[in-house]
Amino acid sequence: MNQGHDIWVFGDYRNYFQNRVTLQILAKASELAAATNGSVCAVVFGKEVDEYVAEYIAHGARKVYVVDHPSLAAYSMETYARLLSRLAEQYQPETLLVGATRFGQEMAPRVAKQLDTGLTADCIDLEIDAKGLLVQIAPSFGGNLIAKIITPHHRPQMATVRPGIFHEIPHDYEARGEVISLPLPDDLPRNSVRLVTSEHRPSKKKKIEDADIVICGGRGMGSKGKFRKLFDLAALMNAEVGATRPVVYSEWISPDALVGQAGKNIKPKVLLSFGVSGAIQHTAALTDADFIVAVNKNPNATMMKMADVAMVADANQACLGIIRALKERLRE
Ligand SMILES: Cc1cc2nc3c(=O)[nH]c(=O)nc-3n(C[C@H](O)[C@H](O)[C@H](O)COP(=O)(O)OP(=O)(O)OC[C@H]3O[C@@H](n4cnc5c(N)ncnc54)[C@H](O)[C@@H]3O)c2cc1C
Repeated sequence: MNQGHDIWVFGDYRNYFQNRVTLQILAKASELAAATNGSVCAVVFGKEVDEYVAEYIAHGARKVYVVDHPSLAAYSMETYARLLSRLAEQYQPETLLVGATRFGQEMAPRVAKQLDTGLTADCIDLEIDAKGLLVQIAPSFGGNLIAKIITPHHRPQMATVRPGIFHEIPHDYEARGEVISLPLPDDLPRNSVRLVTSEHRPSKKKKIEDADIVICGGRGMGSKGKFRKLFDLAALMNAEVGATRPVVYSEWISPDALVGQAGKNIKPKVLLSFGVSGAIQHTAALTDADFIVAVNKNPNATMMKMADVAMVADANQACLGIIRALKERLRE
């Protein structure tokens, strides 16, 4: 059953309000579908998933394939991969996109292997070329090159997409889509892993890729102790703290704060950057920041050149000065 130019997006709805990657991919898929006369489809597995089906339709899916079954309540790598492969074999989508969440990063290669097709992991952009092929754009060779990859001979064209790269389209309450409810095949291989228990630990932090204000610290902060002042500033500004690679490698902050090619893409309304040189591997992730303030003792640092406001100062002293000023303002 060949579904022409259908673009499938795997519905990863765990942590729904924090994890927006499926909605972001649906938005991009709508653009790609317009270029190929295709149709955007979401694929949803789980137990009682109606609300997610409705969400995906409201965010651009014109068709949703649903397998709703109690045994799918817990995300299971093996079962979900087998089921997705099975449906892809049956309906033959042209393209299959998966969010590069931890689950997606583990599941997508299994699906690609089962379907005997290629997979580009961790894409930062997607395009359609003159022949209508999906161009999968991803950092390669340790991040030193940006590769453009196509899948000319095998189907589906598969890619995982980094969270925070695309912008979801606004929720459309009027949107309508076709829902295709499918039974759980009874001949799926049994899971070799049995889930005994699972616990969701909500993070108190907003994700850095969704934050409106980000404070990014670089090696120029000087030491772990001085770097910690950025957290005080962030608390006063309701901001999240990000960092460059040397800072993460020095263990001044946890790796999930890494901003850049090897870490997160951010799109804050305001970015405050302290003691950051502005290497391309870092700045590539800042292109969607609306307004940048940089503090550096070197006025010629790349970060200073790309800033809207560049402050030539000691990063630590500037941070302390802003904290003092904000505290005074709060006391007034
Ligand atoms: C494959 C690959 C992937 C990479 N991925 C990433 C990534 O995802 N993210 C990332 O950030 N990097 C990444 N890097 C590393 C990147 O190339 C840079 O080395 C890194 O971003 C530099 O971090 P920095 O600006 O903190 O340090 P530095 O380059 O050392 O810059 C420190 C800055 O602080 C200033 N400074 C020093 N003292 C003070 C002071 N007292 N007050 C004010 N300013 C001061 C200096 O003038 C300088 O501009 C990657 C590299 C490679 C090869």
